[in-house]
Amino acid sequence: MKKVSFYTLGCKLNFAETSTLSKIFQSCGYKVVDFDDGADICVINTCSVTENADKECKSIVKRALSKNKECKVIVVGCYAQLKPEEILNIQEVRLVLGANEKFKIMEYLKYLDEDEAKAKAFYSDIDEAYHFNASYSHGERTRTFLKIQDGCDYTCSYCTIPLARGESRSDTIDGIIHNIHRIVEKGVKEIVLTGVNIGDAGYANLSSHQKRKVRAYTFYQLLQEIEKIESEFRLRISSIEPNLLTDEMIELAAISKHIVPHFHIPLQSGSNTILAQMQRRYKRELYASRVEKIKSLIPAAAIGVDVIVGFPGETDELFQETYDFLWNLELSYLHVFTYSERKNTLAEKLSDKIPVNIRKQRNHQLRQLSQKKQHYFYQKNIGSVRKVLWEDNEKNGRMFGFTDNYIKVSTEYQSELSGKTVEVFLNEWDSKNHCLMGNIYEPTLI
Ligand code: SF4
Repeated sequence: MKKVSFYTLGCKLNFAETSTLSKIFQSCGYKVVDFDDGADICVINTCSVTENADKECKSIVKRALSKNKECKVIVVGCYAQLKPEEILNIQEVRLVLGANEKFKIMEYLKYLDEDEAKAKAFYSDIDEAYHFNASYSHGERTRTFLKIQDGCDYTCSYCTIPLARGESRSDTIDGIIHNIHRIVEKGVKEIVLTGVNIGDAGYANLSSHQKRKVRAYTFYQLLQEIEKIESEFRLRISSIEPNLLTDEMIELAAISKHIVPHFHIPLQSGSNTILAQMQRRYKRELYASRVEKIKSLIPAAAIGVDVIVGFPGETDELFQETYDFLWNLELSYLHVFTYSERKNTLAEKLSDKIPVNIRKQRNHQLRQLSQKKQHYFYQKNIGSVRKVLWEDNEKNGRMFGFTDNYIKVSTEYQSELSGKTVEVFLNEWDSKNHCLMGNIYEPTLI
C-alpha cells in the first residue's frame, strides 16, 4: 500500500481542504501517514498570506525528503496558484497544482512517474475557478472546520486571496445541512463555519459563466436553516466582514441554541482614511455600531478583531486613531498583522511606505493592547458559569477547553471529560497556562 502524507500551511480553510485531499487518496487505496513518517508522496497545501511562502515551502520540501529521499512532493494551495513557476524552481518538487486542479489530484499522479528530471505545473486562469468543492476537517474529536464558501469578490487593495482563490462561491444550503448531520453523527461537538468571506455565502451551484452571480441564499437564511437542526452541537462563525454582519444575524445569535457568543470581525484599521485606501467597504462608525449591537444583546460575547499595521500612508496620527478606536471598544482580543507588500496588488503601488521598524513597533504596541483587552475580558468572566468543551489534551495534570464565548479554561485532568461540553464555574486566573481555572459546576457547592 502506497503511503501519502500532508502538510498544511495557513488558514482553517486550507485545513478543511487538506482533509478532503486526504479522503481522495484514501478512497484510492493510499495509506495516510504522519508527515515525518517518510511517505511515498507528500502533499504540501500552501498559503499566500505567509510573508516567506517560498522559504517555508522549501524547508517543508527538505523535511519531507529527509524522511524519505524517494518521496515525491506535490505542492498545491494559494501559493501554487499564484507562483507556480517559482515553486518549480525548488528542485525537489515534482508537481504543482493550481486552484482548479488540486481536487483532481489523482488525475495528475501519472505525471509523477514520467521523466524524473522534469517537474510539472498545472494551473488555470483564476477566472476559471468557479466550482465549489465542499470540505471539512477531520481527525479532531471536538471541533471540525466546515468549508461553506470559497473565493472573494471584494477588492481590498492589499489582498491576494481573490487572485489565488477566485470568485465568491458556496455550497448549497442542502449540502451544508447534509454535512453538518454527517459531522454531528461522528460525535463532533463544535462546527466552525469556514470560508474566505463567509458573510457573502450564497452563490451556490455555479456551473457556468452565465449563471455565476445568481444569489441562491443569504448567510442569514443559512443560519436560520442551521438553527432548525435538532441535534446538539455548537456553531462558531469563524470570521465575518463588519458590513455583512447584520442586526438580524446578531439577534438570531442572541437567542440561538447553536450559535456561540463569539464574533471575529476584521477591522484592519481604525482610521477612515486608511480604510478608504484599503478599499474596505465600511467606515469605523459602522464597525463600532456592530460591536455596540452585539454587546447590547449579548453582553458576555467575545469579539475578536483583525488589524493591519504599517499600511502605506499610516502616519503616527492615523495609527493613533486606530489605537484609540480599539482602546475605546469593548473587544476581547486582537489579531495583529504587519503590512507587507504583495505583488500584483494595488497597495503595492501606493507611496508613503512605512519603514519596517515602525511597522514592527506598531505591531508590538497593538499586541500589548490585545493582552490587556484579553486579560480584562477574562477577568470580567471570573465568577460566571459557562459551557466548556473539553479537549483531549493533558499538560502537567491539567486539561484544557474553550467556553462558548471563547475563553480558554483549564481544570484537573479527568479523561472522561474529553470531548464533552460541561458547565464550568470560572474561578481564577491560571498564570501558568495563561487561561482561567475552572471547576465543574455543582450548584449545591456554590
Ligand atoms: S474581504 Fe478583502 S481581505 Fe478578505 S479575502 Fe476578500 S479581498 Fe481579501
